[in-house]
Amino acid sequence: MERITLHDKTFRTYIPYAEIDKAISKVAQQINRDLMNEDRPVFLGILNGSFMFTSDLMKKIDLNCMVTFVKLASYSGTESTGDVKEVLGLCADITGRTVVVVEDIVDSGTTIVKLVEDLKKKNPKQIKICTLLLKPDAYKQEIPLDYVCIRIPNDFVVGYGLDYNNLGRQYKDLYVID
Ligand code: 5GP
Ligand code: MG
Repeated sequence: MERITLHDKTFRTYIPYAEIDKAISKVAQQINRDLMNEDRPVFLGILNGSFMFTSDLMKKIDLNCMVTFVKLASYSGTESTGDVKEVLGLCADITGRTVVVVEDIVDSGTTIVKLVEDLKKKNPKQIKICTLLLKPDAYKQEIPLDYVCIRIPNDFVVGYGLDYNNLGRQYKDLYVID
């Protein structure tokens, strides 16, 4: 088991890349099947956390589609602040299109609720949610999560795009606080 130190905290290997890759393949297959008849769906990655996931997911999507990003921020340290800021807005026109939101992790669901509210104002045909990780014990929202790669307990994880105060995003595996 590998340990990494970020700021004042130590993390240990939690989910190795091979397992992440397998889970993404499964979800990609479902998306390919479900959206086969949609006209150029828009995959919307949520920066910064989902940059690595979006990249790996998209390599497995064989639909004629668009990929774009928005930047949101709600976390400070290891705690959700509940206050979601849109740091970089949506440029693509999603009117009448199927949108697949690509998230790194859904925790309380505050981010997803705010995002879906904003996206609905732009009149998409439908909004699907795809997340690499879900903390089912923390998620108390109504919005259905259409594609979940991996379910985890309420632990704080880093790596594979996820950070602890801006560090640790570049690691290929997922790590959990030790
Ligand atoms: P929510 O709004 O669902 O409470 O939180 C969603 C956002 O909080 C995620 O997109 C992610 O940026 C951050 N987040 C939630 N849980 C974790 C975690 O365990 N580790 C890291 N690094 N970020 C998390
Ligand atoms: Mg995120």
